[in-house]
Formats: sequence, C-alpha cells, structure tokens
Amino acid sequence: MKTLKIKNKDANKYLKGYPLLHKSSVASAGSDLKEGDLLSIISESHTFIGKGYYGLQNKGVGWVLTQDQKQTIDQAFFSNLLIKALAFRKTLYRDTETNAFRIFNGEGDGFGGLTIDKFDDYYLLTWYSEGAYHFKDYFLHAIKELLYFRGIYEKKRFGKQGRYIEEDEFVAGERGTFPLLVKENGVRFAVYFNEGAMVGVFLDQREVRQRIREGYSEGKKVLNAFSYTGAFSVFSVLGGAAHTTSVDLANRSYSKTIEHFKLNSIDYEAQNIVVEDVFKYFKYANRKNILFDLIILDPPSFARSKKRTFRAEKDYTDLLKETIEITDHKGTIVASTNCAKFNMRKFRSFVDKAFVDSNRSYQITEEFSLPSDFKTHSAFKEGNYLKVLFLQLDL
Ligand code: SAH
Repeated sequence: MKTLKIKNKDANKYLKGYPLLHKSSVASAGSDLKEGDLLSIISESHTFIGKGYYGLQNKGVGWVLTQDQKQTIDQAFFSNLLIKALAFRKTLYRDTETNAFRIFNGEGDGFGGLTIDKFDDYYLLTWYSEGAYHFKDYFLHAIKELLYFRGIYEKKRFGKQGRYIEEDEFVAGERGTFPLLVKENGVRFAVYFNEGAMVGVFLDQREVRQRIREGYSEGKKVLNAFSYTGAFSVFSVLGGAAHTTSVDLANRSYSKTIEHFKLNSIDYEAQNIVVEDVFKYFKYANRKNILFDLIILDPPSFARSKKRTFRAEKDYTDLLKETIEITDHKGTIVASTNCAKFNMRKFRSFVDKAFVDSNRSYQITEEFSLPSDFKTHSAFKEGNYLKVLFLQLDL
C-alpha cells in the first residue's frame, strides 16, 4: 500500500468523512502512483485519515474507501458494499411497476467512481476513472455471487476530460437485444446500450415524472424543453395533458420520442415534437403569443449551440426569464438542474431573481432532490446534484 499525505489544513475535513481526494488537498504522494493503487492516507503530521485508491477523474485524484485502519480492502470488502447497497434498495426490487433504478451510487454506497444501474435483468456499470476500473473483477465477482442477471454491460467515462470511451460494452452473461424495454411506475421506456454515453432515460427523475403525471398534467398544455427522449412528455400525456410539445436540438430526439409515445400507446401524431434550439423555440413562441400551462425545464449543465453557450451556474436565471414569458397566467414551471456547482439555496436565488426581474409572483409548491436509490454521502454535499422546484405562477 502506498502513502498519500493530505495537507494539515484540510485534514479535519477528511477526518470528518469527506471522501473525494482533491488534488489541491494533497501535500505529497509518491511519484510512482498508478491508477488503481491502494492508498494509506495520512495527514502531514502523520495522523491516520483512511484508506483509499488512486484514480484520476475530473474533480479529484481518488477516493477514500474507509476510515477504519483495520479494514482490509479485499473481496469481502467489495462484496459487503454490494450487500449493503442491495439491502438499501429492497423496496425497489419488490416494486412490480418499476424495474429500472440505480443499485449502486458511487461514494454514497462506499466506492466513489462507480455507479451500477439495473434495467430489467441487465446491469450497467459506469466507471469514472481508470483507477476505479482496476476494481472491476471484485465488483463482477460480487454481482455474480449476489444477483440474478441476464447480462452485464459497462461504460467507461474516463477518456480525455472524463469523456465517454466508445467501445463494445458487453461484459458478461447474455447479450441484450436493444431496445431493452423497461418500466417505471408502469410506464415503458426503451433503453439502448452501445449507443454512446446515455441510454435513453435518466433514472434520477423518477419521482419528478411521477409527480408531474399525478398532480400537474390533467387538461394542461405542456412544453417539455430539452426533452431528450420525451420521458416527461409521456408522463404528462398519461397524466391527462391536453397537448404536449417536446423540444430538443438533437435529431435523435425525434424518433426516440415517437418510440416512447408508441410504447405507451399514445397517438404521437396528436403531440408536437420539435427538433430545434430551445432558445429559438422560445423566441418563436413569444412572437406567436403561444402560452403554456406547464413548462418542464431540464437543461444540461453546459450546452453549446450555434448561437449560444449555456452554463447553468451563470445562465439559469435568464433561461427562466424567457420561460416565464411564455407561461400562462397561473401556470407552472418545473425548473430542474443537475449542475453540481451550486446548491439548492443558490438555485432558489436564481429562481427568485428571474421572477423579480420579470415582475411575476410565484410560489414553490414542490421540491425534489435525488431519489433514495441515488444514495448520497452525508459529508459530500456536491454529490447531491439534482435540484427540482415546482413553481406556481401568479399566486
Ligand atoms: N429532460 C430530459 C433530459 C435532458 S438531457 C429527460 O428528463 O429525459 C439534455 C438534452 O438537452 C439533450 O437531449 C440535448 O440534446 C438537449 N439540448 C442541449 N442544448 C440544447 C438547446 N440549446 N436546445 C435544445 N435542446 C438542447
């Protein structure tokens, strides 16, 4: 085991359980450290902090795995992590209406750098550093020991700047035939592995989709902005929406959204699917005086289109102001962001500024963060990245 020293000024933070090894907190580390090396982590004054591993990813150089000096990092350690993770998802495993959810969420489940999602009888492992990937055999062994599965796939997200590495993603068991058809609260989704970094559905929005269907869709004219494969639109229609418009810049979103409507026996021709820059669509709607009762706004944290670069931490307020302009009297905006650079308090301040500037009143009626299967680490606040606010206008 190699030694990594943490600067004394940061030692307390790590002693309190902070799990990510920031480059700026490292006082010294052997020059021969390799991806996947196990580390004994100490402070400059030799206080034991924990054991961890070395793995370069965008935000750090590795993760703490345990604060217990006697803990050995062996097969039993990894199997135990999975046993605990599965016990924590017991209710979801028993849910007959949902068979797609996260069973292992990185540092929240004790190992930063890996997530595991279940899609029916297939499991998808996503690795966030080459170092994390060194522990693959332990996790595979644990999965084979503890779980029934048909197939296992993986994605590597540790190319340059954390980018996705394109390659065959099949790992074990039987190859799937795609799309895999999964369900979430009784609604069907089409999932594709081997088609890039994203599979067709973002599992972290499950509770938000359900709430939109149950409490906010009936009779409403809905705009789903940054709609991707239309998951929010499907839930809106099933919740009784009068009409939906889904807008996304990516060409693939058109056929994927139709596929999701069809899978759920929705007449897609009665819905509107627009492949266009959201900002351009907002201008068009404004010009034509088109107003919506419910607007779902779930942009990426960072996006570059021909005319404009969008950064959630800088531009969310402006995006919301444009959204407010096309929201009907007493309408609702579901404002969502997955940007880890700011917390809920800051997000609320962005929202507030947008309304003050627009001279419209509002009330927050619902607030969501990650669902419980996306288990977070209490000392790692930035891991709780999802922030969703339901905003009721003109109250
Ligand atoms: N709300 C979706 C996920 C959105 S992912 C869901 O819950 O399923 C972000 C999406 O934004 C991507 O599909 C991407 O193509 C789209 N996008 C990025 N920039 C855009 C822009 N300027 N206009 C429209 N869509 C954009």
